Amino acid sequence: MFCRIISRDAPASVVYQDDIVIAFLDIHPAAPTHILIVPIEHVPSMNQLSEEHTQLVGHMFLVAKQLAGQNGISDSGYRLIINSGPDANQTVFHLHLHLLGGGPMRFPMG
Ligand code: AMP
Repeated sequence: MFCRIISRDAPASVVYQDDIVIAFLDIHPAAPTHILIVPIEHVPSMNQLSEEHTQLVGHMFLVAKQLAGQNGISDSGYRLIINSGPDANQTVFHLHLHLLGGGPMRFPMG
């Protein structure tokens, strides 16, 4: 699904794109700000990451930080989540970083 968004064959509210990642609004927002930062390269999950992805993963987090600033939640706070596998309820098998914020969140989430 996310590959189809990347190739622009499926619609998405894209808020950022460069050569390494694309970022778009989550279709079912779990917080007032809920953005997904997705690598252009198809990496199915955390389990397929290797040394060659070091720069990619760092870039995903720096883009998340930038988008937090652009969405005015740098100081109020935000949460970054990567779900991996069934116990974490990963539903889309294309690596993605959730950026959540805009209001208080519970922790632990259970
Ligand atoms: P995860 O449980 O970490 O795999 O999260 C997948 C996320 O992708 C969920 O929060 C979904 O709401 C979101 N999602 C699924 N399909 C789309 C889509 N077409 N556009 C935007 N977000 C999507």
